[in-house]
Amino acid sequence: MEQDPLPLELQPTGNITRKAFSIAVERSDEIQNIRLKLPVVSDEQKIMEAVHNNNIVVLKGETGSGKTTQVPQFLFESGYGSPDSPTPGMIGVTQPRRVAAVSMAKRVGDELGNHGKKVSYQIRFEGNVGPETAIKFMTDGVLLREVAEDIALHKYSAIIIDEAHERSVNTDILIGMLSRVVKLREELSLEDASIKPLKLIIMSATLDLADFRENKALFSIPPPLLQSEGRQHKVITHFARKTYHDYVDEAFRKVSRGHRKLPPGGFLVFLTGQNEINHLSKRLKEVFHSGHSSSGPKVRISGKDAPMEAEDIDFGDTIDDNYDYDDDDELDIHINDDDEFKMDGEEENSGPSKIHVLPLYSLLPTREQLRVFERPPDGSRLIVLATNVAETSLTIPGIRYVFDSGRSKERKYDQTTGVQSFEVGWISKASARQRAGRAGRTGEGHCYCLYSSAVYERDFAEHAKPEILRMPIEGVVLQLKAMNLQHVKNFPFPTSPDRHGLELSEKLLTYLAAISPTGQITPVGSTMSIFPLSPRYARILLVGHLHDCLPYTVALVAGLSAADVFIPENQVIPATIPKEEDDFATNADRIEDEARNNLRRKFNKVQKDFCFLDDKSDAIKLLQVVGEFAHDPTEEWCQLHFVRFKVLKEILQLRKQITDLLRTNITAFAGLKFQEKLDAPSPKQVKALKQMVAAGFIDHIAIRADLSPNPPELRRKPTRAIDVPYLTLFPSQIQHDEEGKAVYIHPSSPLAHISPQECPEYIVYSYLQRAAPRIGAEKLPKTRMHALTDITGGQLASLTKGTSLIDY
Ligand code: ADP
Ligand code: MG
Repeated sequence: MEQDPLPLELQPTGNITRKAFSIAVERSDEIQNIRLKLPVVSDEQKIMEAVHNNNIVVLKGETGSGKTTQVPQFLFESGYGSPDSPTPGMIGVTQPRRVAAVSMAKRVGDELGNHGKKVSYQIRFEGNVGPETAIKFMTDGVLLREVAEDIALHKYSAIIIDEAHERSVNTDILIGMLSRVVKLREELSLEDASIKPLKLIIMSATLDLADFRENKALFSIPPPLLQSEGRQHKVITHFARKTYHDYVDEAFRKVSRGHRKLPPGGFLVFLTGQNEINHLSKRLKEVFHSGHSSSGPKVRISGKDAPMEAEDIDFGDTIDDNYDYDDDDELDIHINDDDEFKMDGEEENSGPSKIHVLPLYSLLPTREQLRVFERPPDGSRLIVLATNVAETSLTIPGIRYVFDSGRSKERKYDQTTGVQSFEVGWISKASARQRAGRAGRTGEGHCYCLYSSAVYERDFAEHAKPEILRMPIEGVVLQLKAMNLQHVKNFPFPTSPDRHGLELSEKLLTYLAAISPTGQITPVGSTMSIFPLSPRYARILLVGHLHDCLPYTVALVAGLSAADVFIPENQVIPATIPKEEDDFATNADRIEDEARNNLRRKFNKVQKDFCFLDDKSDAIKLLQVVGEFAHDPTEEWCQLHFVRFKVLKEILQLRKQITDLLRTNITAFAGLKFQEKLDAPSPKQVKALKQMVAAGFIDHIAIRADLSPNPPELRRKPTRAIDVPYLTLFPSQIQHDEEGKAVYIHPSSPLAHISPQECPEYIVYSYLQRAAPRIGAEKLPKTRMHALTDITGGQLASLTKGTSLIDY
């Protein structure tokens, strides 16, 4: 949108008077001054006119331009969400991430002054929505469930789908769904004057717009596109001369130097995960909190200790990159020998000497996440170490320098082999621009890339692949079928899922008895869709009541469907620090080694204790943890047992929610009570639970392959359980790696610690995973199965009796 100066009487003030209905908001001068600087606020009239004249509007604007905080307020001020206005329904705002839903609700509440209490949020198990709520921030998942309950979304007068460019599955499905809901509300409003049309505003920072606006299946006429061009300050991007594969080490080096050389201003460092963040945080604190700030970091850690998940990822030594590079149109690129941190005309070393390091990732407790919005202590430099969370959803105040690793961790999923992997890979150019832009909010900023311009040009895709192409979609298919959409392929997806993937999902759902062979949802399927669980877990739950152990099944599926409860060993025990001079170990080093050994002993004992019910089943181990936690649901207990408090608390809430859903939706369970504390299950129950787990994963079973009559190369005598080859039963002809079809137990499983002779004949696994291949390495990493449980041939036979197994 052009920034033409408007005639004086129409200057936007944030409190526009030209409205049929308006709500007076009293804001503090401080807030008002901040608002007036936001590009979106200058465009208020144009935005609201477009909303009044169209039911669907797309708004594109730079990150930080004010979309998330301001647009809901514009709607509120013109009467949306006010009970006595012509548009009384709530204003719903969706976010792909919980942390953004919570923090944005808080910020908008603060900005709305006298109406601040009318802003609420709802994330999965937490919320403060009440009868007064006018603006409701929520995750996209929350709204998706609400559409399933009320397809006309009667409670809302307007919906804002935010961060549409992230292309999360939920956001994509919501956009498809809402394109129909808007039509429905239009039709309903013609029949009944008390029903108003629904306004839909799709907002994004960058967007492959063709997928949305010009998608004929979605919108017969493309909705108007408003662009609010940012008053983003200049950001100078400094590419690295070389791209180092150990980017955590390189980040440490660069951030340390930067802190000593750069003038005041917060740092935002983009890494790929919690491990890396904690590792870098520890190193920075060690160096700068122990009085080394003036003499520079004491670098004694070699570049090899950056811990990665499961198996190391290696991008080869350095990636060569010495070709010339022309300026990019979109990025204000300035190539600099960044090692020098030369600042145009600015004095070196005038920055603060202390550092205030804060991590920011999704598993971090909410109150810890919100610390990034607080002022750092006087005289210290804020250094935020973040994952993608900080890329577009959150604007952290005071950031002037961005350090971008150029990588992110993404889930990949191979539709044919069913192998999933969490791979660290290059981000897209669009993401890189977003990350750099985070430095230009308060003034001119700098982005220091940990990759070269050649790598950026050659290896970065334009846009990231939508999530719907990267994960199993049986859950989406079941949800759509439950909403009476028999032919899922006709759904107006912004990007259609892979055809083969759709077929496989339907086959799996048929096998889980959720849909009939002709693709119609069955009564079992309808019941399954009520639960906020993937179809496999919903299936386990529904067979669970057959064996008189429903409370255990509830606890188990809640546990299985949450994020990982266990903190991996490499996060508990810091990596060994290689000595600079091998033969010279100081006393301090010896103490460190001893502390590490003690920790390892403690860790192993805790893991063993968790397996006292059964040492062959990950699922039973998890059930035991979930049960023990309920007896002492404290942070201390979790710390002592190396498990995640946030996740376990969520599992407890999910157990309660599932129990409530069972009680209210299934007549047979009308009297069901929530039993928080569970006694240990009996051996008979354990056996039944294992069989139930297999019922949900009947296509995920592997058979031990080193026993005859398998080929001789698989009959080698393995010396460790994690080297025992297994063959997946279905799909049966898939080549998993160069060793053929074999898959192996993941080292995190209790099975990894038993002798190879004791390895069970059949294993049920949740998914297969392979680490990214090392460049230049001779062998591909092994495909690992995340084991769920062992099962006997007899149990397997009784499960599959009378049913034809999935035919791939
Ligand atoms: P967009 O959605 O377009 O990325 P936002 O509406 O999130 O932009 O942010 C607009 C501005 O509001 C930011 O530039 C920032 O200065 C300010 N802001 C947002 N959240 C907070 C917060 N929690 N505390 C202080 N300022 C904030
Ligand atoms: Mg935003």
